[in-house]
Order: sequence, then structure tokens, then C-alpha cells
Amino acid sequence: MSIVRQFYRLQLVDAELAERRAQLADVEASLGETEDVIRARQAVVEEEERVAQLRKQVRALELEIGGLNDKLKRNQDRLYSGQVRNPKELSSLHDEANALRRRRSELEDRQLEAMIALEEEEAELAERQARLRQIEATWRQEQQALQARKQELESLLAELEEQRQEMRTKLGAANRALYDDLSRRLAGTVVALLKQGMCQVCGVDVPFTMARAVERGEGIHYCPVCERMLYGG
Ligand SMILES: [Zn+2]
Repeated sequence: MSIVRQFYRLQLVDAELAERRAQLADVEASLGETEDVIRARQAVVEEEERVAQLRKQVRALELEIGGLNDKLKRNQDRLYSGQVRNPKELSSLHDEANALRRRRSELEDRQLEAMIALEEEEAELAERQARLRQIEATWRQEQQALQARKQELESLLAELEEQRQEMRTKLGAANRALYDDLSRRLAGTVVALLKQGMCQVCGVDVPFTMARAVERGEGIHYCPVCERMLYGG
């Protein structure tokens, strides 16, 4: 096999390696949690905090109302015990009972409001949890597909790498060094295809005799403009 042909085949493998490595980097960048999942989880945590706060509030009002009921019961027991006859004391017990009932009514209004709010926030929480489950399910599927793609690319890269090493070994040290040097100078494209006398990289028409020699595979010829080795295919 001519050097130009070997170089051209190595160049194809190098180009595919670069492309597959870029694809693998993209896949790896997409692995892990997405913004969507993080945001949906955060939304659930925030709502859980609101619900917990409201539950605490409802519970505290319940306790306070319970305390007032106890006080009111003691007040009523005393009032109707028949033991209190002093009008001043009776009147003060009545006043106390009224004050306790007013306070209780106030707290009951607040309790009702808190319970309605709690119900709304619990519904919101259930909605956010369902949304999170849905997003996570989609995310898991995507991650599985990405993992599969990652493995596929990794084994492809291993194969290409092996091919590349074989080709480079066959080239021998001198040609390997030449290839690498040209590759560095020519941005990775060492060989240009020549079709109908035209360099397929820079578009220049090469001299007729050179084109003929390239087509026949005689000797090594470089494009006069982009300086790449010409290959007739
Ligand atoms: Zn050229």
C-alpha cells in the first residue's frame, strides 16, 4: 500500500476518533442531574416547609383553644356550683366567661383560616410531588439511554484506537514522524483528495501532469496551494 493511501486511511481514523471523542464528551456532560430535576425537587422541599409550618400553626391553635375550654369549664363549674353568692364575684365570673368565649371565637376563626390554607398547600404539595415523580421518571429513562450511548462510544473508541495503533505501527518510525509533523502543520488534514484535477480541500486545479501522476499513484505530490499530499482515491 502506498504511503499516501496509508496516510489517508490513518487520517480517516484520526478524524473519526476526534468526532467520537467529542460525542462522548457531550454524553458525559449530559450525565447526572438536570436543572429540571433539581428545580422540581427544590419546589417540593419549599412546599413541604410551608405545609409543616401551617400544621404547626393549626396544632398550636388547637392547644390554645383546648386551654381556653379548660379555663371556661372551671369558670362555669364555679359559677354554677352554688357556692358563689357574692354579686361582685358572680359578675366577675360572668365577665371572665364572656372574655374567654370572645377569645375562643377569635382563635377558632384563625384556626379555620389556617386549616383552609393548610388544605390548599397540601394539594399544592401533592401536585409538586407528582410533577417531581414524572420528571424523575423521564430523567431516569434519558440517563439510561445516555449510559448505553456512552458504553457504545467507549467500545467504538477502543476499536478505533486499536486500528490507529496498528496503522501507525505499519507506517514505521520515519513515516509516522512525517505524518505527525504534517498533521500539526495542516490542522489534522494531511492528505487531500484529488478529483478531476482539483484539490478537494482548497479547490485549486493542480497542473495536468501532476494530476495524472496522482491518479496513477506515482510518487508523492503536494498541492501547490494548501501543501497537502494529494491522493487520487
Ligand atoms: Zn489544496
